[in-house]
Amino acid sequence: MTELEIFKLVCIFIIGLVMGSFLNVVGIRLLKEEDFVFERSKCPKCKEKIAWYDNIPLLSYVLLRGKCRHCSESISFQYPLVELITGILFVLVYYFWGSSIKTIFFLILVSNLIVITITDLKEKVIFDINSIPLIPLGLIFNFFDIGGNSLEKVEFLGVAFNDVFISAVLGALLGAAFFEIFSRLGYLFSGEYAFGGGDTILGAALGAWFGWKGIIIILALSLVFQMILGIPLIMYNFIKSREYQSLCAMGGLFLALVLSITGRYIGYQGGYNLAIGLIILSFLIGGISVFVIFKRMRETQNYTFLPFGPPLVIAGLLVMFLENKITFYLPF
Ligand SMILES: [Zn+2]
Repeated sequence: MTELEIFKLVCIFIIGLVMGSFLNVVGIRLLKEEDFVFERSKCPKCKEKIAWYDNIPLLSYVLLRGKCRHCSESISFQYPLVELITGILFVLVYYFWGSSIKTIFFLILVSNLIVITITDLKEKVIFDINSIPLIPLGLIFNFFDIGGNSLEKVEFLGVAFNDVFISAVLGALLGAAFFEIFSRLGYLFSGEYAFGGGDTILGAALGAWFGWKGIIIILALSLVFQMILGIPLIMYNFIKSREYQSLCAMGGLFLALVLSITGRYIGYQGGYNLAIGLIILSFLIGGISVFVIFKRMRETQNYTFLPFGPPLVIAGLLVMFLENKITFYLPF
């Protein structure tokens, strides 16, 4: 890298830090239904207005040692964390795609995904204002093939579209359908919607940006991330409330996972009949386990749903950065 390029990356990092600071404020004020553009920042405890020199991203937090200058109330670690993450993501986007329209589109996407993560983690809400515009934006992105991934034109109703645009439309439908269907299934079994309406819109948005192959990978990855994060927590709750039936069902789910992975492996080695048997068995055990878990949830009225936005966002960003390299691993 030349000195000029490093200088540019440093500038982008600073822009990212400032943007992160702004996104923090947007997220928090959306939750409080405050005006986030014109109101000056103030300390949530002593209500003292925060001077500009105490509002410098990252730096002020370090200099003030995480405490308000006036009342010494601790400043949430969320502020420097979001600023740093935004800075890093901005640098990565710029590093990969340079000064291009693609970079601008991805920076808009990243910024909205950060606000979505903040509001979903804090209060389990995804605001329409952050998620809905991402759907048309993603479709525009692919309509004009701003990503530069189109391989051919596809004729549809006599009009030639970029293949990535067709994929984006399918992806948006698939993303929305996944959450709608599972939400309703969850309702059928447990009397409670498994996902919020915000997840449906976010699913549609990510589908619109990354196409039908992208959204399949995003959904699969986010389920894995959610399991890694959620299962220990849910197990802990089951043990605490002596919910042994559900605990066994969780064991069943794990067994089903192991069986299906083993089945796939044997399938690759050529043992097709055994592989199919194992996979069918894993579906059976998995299905029964899910049924037991939902049944017990309904009986005990004990729901431990985690927000699904954050794992979706992480998976979405991963697919964004890896682009075609990740769809390469799909068998279709
Ligand atoms: Zn204060």
